[in-house]
Amino acid sequence: MARLVMKFGGTSVADVDRIRHAARHVKREVDAGNQVCVVVSAMAGATNQLVGWVNDASKLHDAREYDAVVASGEQVTAGLMAIVLSDMGIAARSFAGWQVPIETDDAHGAARITDIKPALLNERLGQGVVCVVTGFQGVAPSGRVTTLGRGGSDTSAVAVAAAIGADRCDIYTDVDGVYTTDPRIAPKAQRLTRISFEEMLEMASLGAKVLQTRSVELAMAQKVRLAVRSSFDDPDAPQVAPDGSGHGVPGTLVCDEDEIMEKQIVSGVTLAKAEAKITLRGVKDKPGVAAAVFGSLADERIVVDMIVQNVSDDGKMTDITFTVPDSEYDKAMKALTVAGDRFEYDSISGSKGGAKISVVGVGMRSHAGVASSMFQALADKGINIQLITTSEIKTSVLIEEEYAELAVRALHTYYGLDKDSA
Ligand code: ASP
Ligand code: MG
Repeated sequence: MARLVMKFGGTSVADVDRIRHAARHVKREVDAGNQVCVVVSAMAGATNQLVGWVNDASKLHDAREYDAVVASGEQVTAGLMAIVLSDMGIAARSFAGWQVPIETDDAHGAARITDIKPALLNERLGQGVVCVVTGFQGVAPSGRVTTLGRGGSDTSAVAVAAAIGADRCDIYTDVDGVYTTDPRIAPKAQRLTRISFEEMLEMASLGAKVLQTRSVELAMAQKVRLAVRSSFDDPDAPQVAPDGSGHGVPGTLVCDEDEIMEKQIVSGVTLAKAEAKITLRGVKDKPGVAAAVFGSLADERIVVDMIVQNVSDDGKMTDITFTVPDSEYDKAMKALTVAGDRFEYDSISGSKGGAKISVVGVGMRSHAGVASSMFQALADKGINIQLITTSEIKTSVLIEEEYAELAVRALHTYYGLDKDSA
């Protein structure tokens, strides 16, 4: 007997028929003797509609009332799921965040979970009841309803899994796993059978949309094994891993590195478009300058990504180049232009429309030459590299957006990730 959290995203509960289909997945696990806690999102599109109504009502609304409205989407699906399960003869009941309780701070609209008291869930699970918990919401110390920020129900699911000591947290979505790269760009992309938390964290923050980055961080910290799988699958199909490796999930398992026998040097290639590049030339090479430059951007809440500072030839002046999302470009240029009293520079220049391509893999830690081979593979296609950054398990380059897809496909092939390559 195992204890499972089964999380269903918006497309998996888009209407009552889809909820019935999702419930059949739950029934399979219950019939197998498992204790199941379900976490649900709002029906696809419902949260957007609720947010729209709030903004219609008033642009300057109280964030606490925003949460009161927007959290309702998950309550609808939790209740419907419990009804459908009961109809199938499965003991089930719904729990709103405050009923669990899922305790959060009071940052309405972007709350963080501070604690989940598992006693009630444990008691009901022990009695064989399927607990259906609303994702995306919790309760503040004041007693008011909070929401966790868009896409937050993945994080709810992981937090619940950690709190009740679940053996696994299954994230049911509209794709059947995590892929080596976006299959729409590289048709030879493959589903990964396993991926480590660290790799998943890099891939999620680099633009792979399957999991909210925060949920992966939490899963890694709490060592909650995650599975990404499709709710659209036949609920009665055999539960086997794609490579028959026996992890028992027909999707991708996100787990500790130790659970992955053969570590790939590169597990995935990611692409993020619409990256703008800004260069400050002739910046003084002395302590505090970088802090002032990036401080003036932080003051405007502009998130900076890649940063490169040159070594200065004369020990007096240097250049700094960095990237921001295209959408923040004008704001960043303005912030740096008006911040002239905090630091000086000779000139500022920049452009929108870059693409960041990254290769990710834990095997990089122990293999030399991954970066250089990546640069060679791009050179072979005549693609110019504008910026480079690396971390222990990732190498990223900024290139012109028009070569982005070509670069992804070239690297995917180069690292042996194509479907038919041995
Ligand atoms: N319903 C919420 C949203 O659309 C939370 C979620 O689905 O993850 O953002
Ligand atoms: Mg979601």
